[in-house]
Amino acid sequence: MLDLSTELDRIEKKGLWRTLRRLDAANTAETTIESKQQLLLSSNNYLGLATDPRLKEAAIKAINEYGTGSGGARLTTGNLHLHEELEQTIASFKKTEAALLFSSGYLANVGTISSMAGKADLILSDAYNHASIIDGCRLSKAKTVVYGHVNMDDLQNKLIENKNHRRRFIVTDGVFSMDGNIAPLPEITLLAAKHGAKVIVDDAHATSVIGENGTGTAEYFGLESCVDITIGTLSKAAGCEGGFVAASRLVIDYLRNRARTFIFQTSLSPGVVAAATTGLHIINSEPERRQILAANADFFRTELRSLGFNLVNGETPILAVIIGEAEAACQFSSRLEEEGIFAPAIRPPTVPDGESRIRATLMATHTKEHLQQAISSFEKVGKDMGVI
Ligand SMILES: *Cc1c(COP(=O)(O)O)cnc(C)c1O
Repeated sequence: MLDLSTELDRIEKKGLWRTLRRLDAANTAETTIESKQQLLLSSNNYLGLATDPRLKEAAIKAINEYGTGSGGARLTTGNLHLHEELEQTIASFKKTEAALLFSSGYLANVGTISSMAGKADLILSDAYNHASIIDGCRLSKAKTVVYGHVNMDDLQNKLIENKNHRRRFIVTDGVFSMDGNIAPLPEITLLAAKHGAKVIVDDAHATSVIGENGTGTAEYFGLESCVDITIGTLSKAAGCEGGFVAASRLVIDYLRNRARTFIFQTSLSPGVVAAATTGLHIINSEPERRQILAANADFFRTELRSLGFNLVNGETPILAVIIGEAEAACQFSSRLEEEGIFAPAIRPPTVPDGESRIRATLMATHTKEHLQQAISSFEKVGKDMGVI
């Protein structure tokens, strides 16, 4: 029998012990964490929709009408008009023929990649792709080749080296969740076209955040017609939960018949589905939320840089402030918390050695005062610790 305590000791010794932090209030810009008031600088609730009264009202109405659980998988008794309406809303938002709901973005990636790619196929996957993409690749039984992070020469070489496969896929995060940079989609789609590969983009952090209408990475580059499959989540900017795939009708028909994480799972509950539909309509009709979010991120990035902090290049609301060693990053994060700013340290193996960092995410609901407060705290801690 595996000795669990030895394994846990090993984890603890490496400084990789994981614990949970408890929020005592809603996931909003100002919140309470373990009884202490904090400015939240690490939320995926980018647009503040998770507590929007209109989403709450839609959820309550759906719960009153249909109850709290959907009672079945989509293919049995769990398919309400609410699910179909949300899929249509996603498809028109993403400008694709069709869309399919999953219970989470994680399951959308796992189910899509593992059913699209089989033994005879090849998947080329960016080295910094999300864990759910990696798990989808593993389950697929396809040959998976990892290319260097956004390294297009490496991608090209690996396309040339791996020719004899039935289908070939290039899979990438649209916005990388740890660095906040955007995948070089113009180069990726060009290489895909040249080498006859299909492109799958995971837009978890891009949906409702980047692009003229907030529809994500393909729109940001004007390349909607070059991406074959877009995967997304309703748990971040849309303020709810659930995952989706937006693609051609052919792909969606295939996934409905083959994706095991779709077929064998109870459908999303009525309240969350109704709230997500309302969330997407608000994202469409209130572009100012996205503009404020972008302005907040620009301002914060510029201010931290001018203080002398080393930030990974990026133009999204995810800011990676490089501190260096894992211990220093953890100490920086604790010091920020003492100041009332909640932003976690990210350490290896999530990021490379020596690149431990504070990962700050901005929200549209952060005010100028919030940002000033956070910047002063970064400055104080940065000077105290000799980071700047
Ligand atoms: C958050 C995230 C997911 C998972 O989405 P959930 O809906 O939370 O399961 C998938 N991919 C990326 C890139 C993410 O950041």
